[in-house]
Amino acid sequence: MNMKKIAALLLIVSLMIPVTTSAAPTPGSEVVWNVQTDQKLIALTFDDGPNPVYTPQILDLLKQYQAKATFFVLGKRVKMYPAIAIREVNEGHEIANHTFDHHFLKNYPPERIVEEIRQTQEVIFDITEQMPSVFRPPGGFYNDALLQSMKEDKLTVVMWSWYQDTKDWKKPGADKIVQTVLGNVHNGDIILFHDLEGDCSQTVEALKRILPELQQRGYQFLTVSDLIAKTRK
Ligand SMILES: [Zn+2]
Repeated sequence: MNMKKIAALLLIVSLMIPVTTSAAPTPGSEVVWNVQTDQKLIALTFDDGPNPVYTPQILDLLKQYQAKATFFVLGKRVKMYPAIAIREVNEGHEIANHTFDHHFLKNYPPERIVEEIRQTQEVIFDITEQMPSVFRPPGGFYNDALLQSMKEDKLTVVMWSWYQDTKDWKKPGADKIVQTVLGNVHNGDIILFHDLEGDCSQTVEALKRILPELQQRGYQFLTVSDLIAKTRK
């Protein structure tokens, strides 16, 4: 068979194959854990807030070091502390979705979680006039059904660099939090902190040491969306 015949045959065969319009997501393929970059860029993230006492202290520190961060807020807490959510946005930080009530997918049907995510999008938009484009699942639990819904809702699912989980919610001491971050820092890291309900003083103490040290080392602090956008160019 000559080349022309082969090409014609291939064309016929390709026309016979039905076009797939909706491919199932590859598990994990649409989840961002960290970002590959040779630039000294880092994303600081704070989950479960706002906290009426500690989030303002964190915002003061971020301002002092010209750092931008991402706040994965809970819808119910944005309703409780709207002024802090507005301050986050006004000071150039990213406000992101972490559900309304922090239920874990392992204990809850995905449809309920998706409902909560959509409710939280509305709450955040009503209060801050910003529509989040990033979501982080409570406890880090997700499955294909949740990823598919997030794709439909145009929300990027963002986790954290596995070695940059400060576990600050367990209150391990400011020293330990500082050590976890500074001891493992890499370009493109997504660092996980919490400004959850209750005492976050260790997180604040740790930030007072982490921010100047990383700034000294030449790192720049970006929102998660900016980090992703900058490195996908
Ligand atoms: Zn959380």
